[in-house]
Amino acid sequence: MEYQISHENELVLNTVRAFMEEELLPHEEEVDRLGEVPEDLGRQIEARAKEVGLFAANLPEDVGGGGLNYSAMALVEREYGKTSHALHSWIARPTEILLACDDAQREEYLAPCVSGEKRELFALTEPEAGSDVMGMKSTARKDGDDWILNGSKHFISGPCMPDFAIVFAATGVDETPRGPRKRVTAFLVDVGLPGFDIQEGNKCVSYRGYKTYQLAFDDVRIGPDKMLGVEGRGLELAGKWLGMGRIWVGATCCGKAERLLEMATDWAASRKQFGKPIGQFQATGFRLADMTMGLRAADLMVTDAVQRADAGALRDEDAAMVKVFCSEMLNRVADDTVQIFGGMGLMEELPVQRLWRDSRLERIWDGTSEIQRHIITRSILRPLGA
Ligand SMILES: Cc1cc2nc3c(=O)[nH]c(=O)nc-3n(C[C@H](O)[C@H](O)[C@H](O)COP(=O)(O)OP(=O)(O)OC[C@H]3O[C@@H](n4cnc5c(N)ncnc54)[C@H](O)[C@@H]3O)c2cc1C
Repeated sequence: MEYQISHENELVLNTVRAFMEEELLPHEEEVDRLGEVPEDLGRQIEARAKEVGLFAANLPEDVGGGGLNYSAMALVEREYGKTSHALHSWIARPTEILLACDDAQREEYLAPCVSGEKRELFALTEPEAGSDVMGMKSTARKDGDDWILNGSKHFISGPCMPDFAIVFAATGVDETPRGPRKRVTAFLVDVGLPGFDIQEGNKCVSYRGYKTYQLAFDDVRIGPDKMLGVEGRGLELAGKWLGMGRIWVGATCCGKAERLLEMATDWAASRKQFGKPIGQFQATGFRLADMTMGLRAADLMVTDAVQRADAGALRDEDAAMVKVFCSEMLNRVADDTVQIFGGMGLMEELPVQRLWRDSRLERIWDGTSEIQRHIITRSILRPLGA
């Protein structure tokens, strides 16, 4: 894909590649083995990312971010995808939802996230409401000018204990032609508030060391100044961000697939059985051909989507197609790489098994493959009234 990138983006790519080599790749085995990123390593990654301009590179320059457009960010995310989320998540890309902050919130939340003084979590998923977002049980009810928040969230992920969470809760119900519909509102909820409990949650075998948290709210009182955006419009806010998040998943999947493909190719060319390299057996060679075609198609889908996003023309179904296509391509590539490596593919001594484990998550988070297919199907049938 690099034959057509601009000089400016080439510089970005060189920066992120050097950063990967020096700051991230040397630590991935240790982090996987430990199941955590030691705090001093995380802080070192943060500090170095600030020095080279990768920290908050996704946000506009007028809020202190790096001002990279979506096409440039896709190149960056593609490179990050070659290593563990546990490591590259320390290079903050604060959620763009925070751009919905009002002036006072920008000072209290957005600016410190850009400078690295604060970290946020995006808290939508609940134990009983994963794919079915509207099944959420978290509520916020009015009490004078304040809101009283109750409920719980789980699988809420980040590199380290956050300073605040962007929490989605139902603030009422609307009657619509399709039946009652929850009004969902986003709130900025500070860690440490009375009634707000946050604990490390389940440990994931993909991206070991990337943490998930469970959040519980028991009559948490939050002021009117903590509402993010407009009451009842939280899902529109979330949706805008989730769309780009799905494209970043696609880009990272392409990066990881490229790394796996390189490993598989080297192995196929050097491992000999029956007196010749296994790549010379058509079963292996054709596998490499299919992996290469899948990656090419996935890269083109990401390129198309970020061009749409840069032009302000990205639709939900575009992002859904990228998410499902790229994550499923990566899973085929990862599985085929294990197959080409044979038994060695599953041994801890080689990184193949780790990348294979890491790949599996991509079909699940940010909306499962099934949910992406629902979004695509809806975009096809709804115009026909079906
Ligand atoms: C490591 C990790 C980090 C995460 N980080 C965050 C985070 O920071 N913030 C956040 O809010 N969430 C986060 N999530 C949650 C993630 O988005 C959800 O796990 C995901 O949306 C799926 O929800 P679920 O796990 O509850 O699965 P479920 O919704 O229970 O789904 C189980 C299965 O049923 C299928 N299914 C469900 N409904 C349908 C349907 N209508 N049609 C067909 N199939 C269906 C699903 O596709 C899936 O295969 C994270 C998850 C993980 C694992």
